[in-house]
Amino acid sequence: ALSLRKMSKFYGEFLALDRISLDIGHGEKIVVLGPSGSGKSTLIRTLNRIEPHDSGVLMIDGEIIDDKTSLPLLRGAVGMVFQNYNLFPHLTVLQNCMLAPRLVRKAHYDATDSLARHYLEQVGIAEQADKYPIQLSGGQQQRVAIARALCMAPDIILFDEPTAALDPEAIKGVIGIIDALSERRITTICVTHEMGFARHIADRVVFMDKGTILEVATPKSFFSNPQTERARHFLNQMI
Ligand code: ATP
Ligand code: MG
Repeated sequence: ALSLRKMSKFYGEFLALDRISLDIGHGEKIVVLGPSGSGKSTLIRTLNRIEPHDSGVLMIDGEIIDDKTSLPLLRGAVGMVFQNYNLFPHLTVLQNCMLAPRLVRKAHYDATDSLARHYLEQVGIAEQADKYPIQLSGGQQQRVAIARALCMAPDIILFDEPTAALDPEAIKGVIGIIDALSERRITTICVTHEMGFARHIADRVVFMDKGTILEVATPKSFFSNPQTERARHFLNQMI
C-alpha cells in the first residue's frame, strides 16, 4: 500500500529524516517507537504531506506522491488523528465529522449525516453527536477524531500518540478501534510511547533513532530480542 524509498526531510539545515525506506501492506498495523526527537512525528507528517519530503520517493498504491499530487486526493486517502485531536471547537461532534466529506468530497448532506452517525456509533459515542468538543472528555474527543478521520473513508490512518492522555479503559477502546480498521484492510501507522499498547496492536514495530529506522520487527521479536544496542538501551529505560 505504502512504499518509502530513501526518503529524507530537512528542517533548514537539520536532517530530520535520513533516507528512510519502508514497505507497508494493506491493513497492516505499524507502530513507530523511538526516543523523543527521533523523527517519528516528522515521518508520519510526511506521509500526508503536512511536511513535504526533500528527496527520495513516497508511493501510495504505486502512485508517486509529490508536488503534483492533488492534496485533496491525498488527504482523502490518508487520514490523520493528531495528538491534541484538533477538533473544531465551534462545531458539534456531528458537524466535525461532516465537514471534510461535505467540503472536499462534495458529498450529499443526508448521506454524510448517516455516514457520520454510523462511525460515531462504531467508536461508541453516537449519543454525543450534538455536543461541542469542550463538553467531552479527552478519551471521547479522541474517539470523535477517529470517527472524523473514518468519514473520509481513508485507506491509511496515521495516529500521533493517540493514547497520550487516555486512561487504560480508553486505551483498550482505541486498540479495539484499530483492530476493527485492520479487519477492513485500512492500514494504521501509529506513533506511541506506550509499550503495552505497541505490543498489543502492532503487526510490526518500526524503531527510529536520529532520523533513521534502526529496526523493523514483530513486537514479539523486538521486545524480547532487540537487534541494536540503541533499542536495547531504549527498552531498558522503560519501566
Ligand atoms: P517526540 O517523541 O518528542 O514527539 P519525535 O520523534 O516525534 O519526538 P519529531 O517531532 O519528528 O520527533 O522531531 C524530530 C526532530 O526534528 C527534532 O530534533 C525536532 O527538534 C526537529 N523538528 C521537528 N519539527 C521541526 C520544525 N518544524 N522545525 C525545525 N525542527 C523541527
Ligand atoms: Mg512526536
